[in-house]
Amino acid sequence: VRLGRVRDPSNRLVIVEGGQTRDVGALFPSLDTMEEVIRRGASCWNELEVRARELPIIESDGWAAPLSTPSKVICVGLNYVDHALEQKVEHPSAPLIFTKFPSAIVGPGDPITWPVGLTQEVDYEAELAVIIGAQMRSVDEVDAAAGIFGYTVANDVSARDLQFADGQFTRGKSLDSFLPLGPVVVTADEFGDASGHRITARVNGETMQDSNTSELIFSVPAILSYLSAHATLYPGDIVLTGTPAGVGAFRDPPRFLGHGDSVEIEIEDLGILINPVRVA
Ligand code: MG
Repeated sequence: VRLGRVRDPSNRLVIVEGGQTRDVGALFPSLDTMEEVIRRGASCWNELEVRARELPIIESDGWAAPLSTPSKVICVGLNYVDHALEQKVEHPSAPLIFTKFPSAIVGPGDPITWPVGLTQEVDYEAELAVIIGAQMRSVDEVDAAAGIFGYTVANDVSARDLQFADGQFTRGKSLDSFLPLGPVVVTADEFGDASGHRITARVNGETMQDSNTSELIFSVPAILSYLSAHATLYPGDIVLTGTPAGVGAFRDPPRFLGHGDSVEIEIEDLGILINPVRVA
């Protein structure tokens, strides 16, 4: 199923079924967040799917971030064959792990923004985001795959000057608004194998990244298994799986984001995440 939160004052939880946006709370009043749906487990997800057509259709005025309170956001760097090639670096021998603060999350249509002068080198990164469905501690790849709730589109917005000045990524990756997510979460059963989906980024309509999740160096189950050996993954946690070639920093000349730009990240079978850029 495709689940999201609409941009109304209460950010109602909805399911997209047959092209229609349907109000989950009308039949399941205690289900008012994505986190609650994930916490209830597979029986709840199945019931939602079976009863989706009974849910009332609502008019929606755009999307909010599908979830906003993960216990953590974990990211993988250098995880696409074509992205390693453009940087002329070897494939890492193990996943390269860093984090973004959950407070960086914004929804579709929200501006990517930063204070004038704080950074001169803001970049986009198209990424497949995994939403964890089950608690995972030292799991193998089979159990890791079984514990995925779903997937959404992410933009791992990165201030390159801050990132490279610090020698590690946290500050440059965690500015408020630097994690656009959405529009919806597609459950793992509907999305299928995480490999084999086209992933693209456009700035003002011009294609900057155009690759496929089959280019991942470490597969989604391999990443989750590796992470779970170090830190327990909790339902609702978000894992970004890396970006393909074509980011602004490695273009010639470099192409950084500025006020008035519009960034679109698209992943086949998930949707399109569009955010304007506002420097204020
Ligand atoms: Mg990234």
